[in-house]
Formats: sequence, structure tokens, C-alpha cells
Amino acid sequence: MNWLIRLGSISREFLRALGRGHTYNVFKNSYVIFGILWGIPVPIVTIGIGIYFSGVAPTVSNIISHVISYPIHIFFLLHPVLFAVVFGAMGTIRDEKERQRLEFESNLIKTNEELKKLDELKDSFVSMVSHELLSPVTTIQGYITFLKGVVTEEQRESLEIAEEEADHLINLVEELMDLSKIEAGEFEVNPGPVDIGNVVNRIINRLKPAIEEKVLVIENRLPQELPAVLADEKRIIQVFTNLIGNAIKFTPSGGKISIYSKEMGNKLIFCVEDTGIGIPKENLNRIFDRFYQVDSTSRRRYGGCGLGLTITKRIIELHKGRIWAESEEGRGSRFCFELERYDKTRRGAEYSTV
Ligand code: ADP
Repeated sequence: MNWLIRLGSISREFLRALGRGHTYNVFKNSYVIFGILWGIPVPIVTIGIGIYFSGVAPTVSNIISHVISYPIHIFFLLHPVLFAVVFGAMGTIRDEKERQRLEFESNLIKTNEELKKLDELKDSFVSMVSHELLSPVTTIQGYITFLKGVVTEEQRESLEIAEEEADHLINLVEELMDLSKIEAGEFEVNPGPVDIGNVVNRIINRLKPAIEEKVLVIENRLPQELPAVLADEKRIIQVFTNLIGNAIKFTPSGGKISIYSKEMGNKLIFCVEDTGIGIPKENLNRIFDRFYQVDSTSRRRYGGCGLGLTITKRIIELHKGRIWAESEEGRGSRFCFELERYDKTRRGAEYSTV
């Protein structure tokens, strides 16, 4: 049935082309000349065969009288014209398709350019707003810290809530600024020797209030004698803070978080594992996308804006490492990433590129 529909549409296209002047234009439609050349051998061959079998000499008068006696030859003589029309129509269809394709392509290029411009505008807007937000919030934070020292215990509690909210806002603004840098290709790392054991201990200490508040068990299984890695300490603190912070956020009270490492040749693999809500299989390959959150509904219970893992992944990639996630819904998640061991004989400068 499909071929019938196709045949119908081809016939309609052909008939439409017959009504176009382009089909008969020898100068603009090269298919017309091709049709004429294709049709010329037809009368030559048919008349030639006729003359040959009638046994007369192939003179002009003999040919004319042969054609007059056999009028079918008029039909053969018209073949160059018929072929010219059929080929001309095909040329018209082809040229129209080509014109439509070029038009489509140029529209696509135009739309692409407009989208690029919009994207640049959005990037500079995000960057500008983030900078504008950061300085007043930092000032507010400074005043809160000052006031905490001179107020009553009750007022102090309110100020602590305000401080937490200001920290939250600063974190969000910093994530937006990092994203702008990533998109502008200005996100860089400055690697050197880093003692990950020390980094993780500091982060756990800093996050202790949140861990205790949710009654979570945190197990630091990193060995005492962990070799140093080649990394940008500030950025690796960001990576661990995000992964441990997410583990805290997405693990219900009574759950457990483990941090451990494995040595693989000149690489060290670090994992943060939790017994939390987990991530459904179909969402797992999207969690590193910018602004992606498994539950993005207005009823979502967890804070954040879906940028932490995007930034984390970029940081690890800038260290020439890999990061991956494994998870089972309702049972927990494991995020692992690799970093290179620190080798005194190598310089870290080669990593500081985007
Ligand atoms: P945010 O935490 O700000 O939402 P992230 O980029 O850090 O953004 O994480 C993206 C999403 O991945 C989260 O919203 C959450 O749905 C999912 N996710 C990340 N870590 C975990 C985890 N440990 N357990 C369950 N889900 C997680």
C-alpha cells in the first residue's frame, strides 16, 4: 500500500513540474539537453533499420519517403523532444529540492547563530547576577558573624538560622559562577601533591553537625598511609564536599556513609557510598547533566540546584580522571572517581588547561 501512495506523490510531483517553465528552459535546466541527447539515437536507429530492410540507398529523399510511408517514425522522431520534457521535469524536481535544502540549511545556520547568541547572553547574565549577588550576601554574612558575639542566646539562635541560609545562598552563587566559568572555558585546575586523608577528615569535621542532626554513621575507611595524589586541593575539597554532602542529603536517618579507596597502578580510586534513597536506573546517566535532579517537582524535599555533580565531573575531567555512579533505588548509591598518584619527577603544569 505504501508504494501506491509513493507512486501517487511522485506522479503529482511530475505533473506539477510539467507546468513549470524551468522544465523547458534549455539554458537553465541542463537536464533538458541531456534528454535531447538521450532521445536522438531513437529515430536514427529505427529509421536506419527501416531503410536497411527496405534495401534502398540511405539518401535524404529515400529517408523522407520512408518516413511518409511509415508514419510511426514521426513518433520516433519526436523522441528527443519527449525525452527532453521528461528529463526536464526531473531536473525541475531536483532543482526545487536542492533549493529547499539550501533554504533549510541557511535557516538552520541562522537559528543556530541566534541560539548561540542567546546562550552567550544567558552566560553573561548568569555571571553578572552571580557577581552582584555574592558581595551583598558576603556582607550580610560578615554582619551576622559580628552580631552573634553581642546578642542574647535566644537572638543568637535566630542569627544562626540566618547564617545557614546565607551560607546556602553563597554556595548556590558559587556553583553558578563555576558553571559560567566552565561554559566560557575558563575553569582551571592547579595541581600539586594532596593528602586526601587529611582533606576528607577536615570535610567530615566540617559536616559533623549535619551528620549528627540526621543521626548518620560515617565510616572513613581510607588507610593511614595513603599515597599523595596529584590534584588541585581546593577543587578536590569541592568534589568530596559535594559527594559527601549529597550522601548526607539523600540518606535517611540511621543510614550509613562510607568513604574508601583502591589503588590501581599509578591511579587511586576514591568512593563515597551511602545507604540512601538511591537513583532509578533510567535517571543514572543524566545526573551529571547541568541542573538535572531526579526529583525536580515543586514537592521535592531536598535543596540544591542540580549543578554539584556537573561541576564535580568537570573537575575530575580536568584532572584527566573519570567519575562514575552506581546505584540501586531504595538501597543506596556509590560515586567513585580516579586521580593520579603524585609523582615527584613529574610537573603538574600540564593539567592546568581547560
Ligand atoms: P543537587 O544535589 O544540588 O540537586 P547534584 O548535581 O549534586 O545536584 O545532584 C544531581 C541529582 O542527582 C540530585 O538532585 C539527586 O537527584 C541525584 N543524586 C546525587 N547524589 C545522590 C545520592 N548520593 N543519592 C541519591 N541521589 C543522588
